[in-house]
Amino acid sequence: MDNLNDSFDGNISAINEEIDKILSISLAEVQQQQPQQNSRYCWVCFATEEDEEEGNDKLTWVKPCNCKGTLKWVHQTCLLRWIDEKQKGNSFKKVSCQQCQTEYIIVLPQMGLVSDLLEGLDNVIRRSSPFLAAGVFVGSFYWASVTYGAITILQVVGHDEGLRILEDTDHIFLMVALPAIPVCLVLGRMIRWEDAILRFIQNRSRKNFRMLGIILPIPEDDGENNQADNNQISRNISDTLSTTRVLCGALLLPSISNIVGRIFFSNIKNNLHRTLLGGLAFVVAKGMLKIYFKQKQFIRKKQRKIVDYTDENIQRYMQNRIIHEP
Ligand SMILES: [Zn+2]
Ligand SMILES: [Zn+2]
Repeated sequence: MDNLNDSFDGNISAINEEIDKILSISLAEVQQQQPQQNSRYCWVCFATEEDEEEGNDKLTWVKPCNCKGTLKWVHQTCLLRWIDEKQKGNSFKKVSCQQCQTEYIIVLPQMGLVSDLLEGLDNVIRRSSPFLAAGVFVGSFYWASVTYGAITILQVVGHDEGLRILEDTDHIFLMVALPAIPVCLVLGRMIRWEDAILRFIQNRSRKNFRMLGIILPIPEDDGENNQADNNQISRNISDTLSTTRVLCGALLLPSISNIVGRIFFSNIKNNLHRTLLGGLAFVVAKGMLKIYFKQKQFIRKKQRKIVDYTDENIQRYMQNRIIHEP
């Protein structure tokens, strides 16, 4: 009976040993496979751990974020270089992983009190200088406007009278009213009344304004006149509002008004009246010319056509161009 028991026990321990062996083999296999699956791979320089072993160049690895799998590992130096690029010189700028958005924990060593103070000062200056620069810019713009306003008053009402007005008027009011002068001139210049009149005429000329045909060229009705088409052509012709042009036109208006007033209305003794009249005459005359010119351009554009590419047409239309070309 004891013998039987012994042999039975022996069998069980043999089976156990066998099971252990199988388990340990599969565990070893798993352990062997694990490092291959999780083989470190730097997402900055694309090097793997194996590359490194071959190169004998050991770099420190970090796992700086929540990323899983191949993107988990990165070289310390590679990541620092990448962070430098993101921070652009600001060592306190927060940088996060582009994949999982985890903010990297960047640990800066202590520099000491004096250096910390200097760094704080540096940051304050860096942050405030844009505002300071903007302030200086706005300030100079304001004072330039005040000066322009004062000069305009002297120009429009005459030197002596202008000085008297500037001295007698409340100074706080002047500080607001003088810079408002160039602003109003520019805003006024941006109103495109000529275009409005031109469009009005173009839309009605055929029926109601036969008389206008004497001074303003009116395109003959070609039957396929289309309101939308016309408006499109007008829009193409009307020059785009150029900033410099508006600015120059607006700021030169008082001087031009003054000159026109002196030339055409020299019999008027009152400076203000003469300049205002000069300005009005100039604006109206310029507007009329502009309307006339734009209407001409409008008609030219409306009547343009493309002809067949035949020898006859080449002779007729392209000859000049060929001759002119060197
Ligand atoms: Zn790397
Ligand atoms: Zn990540």
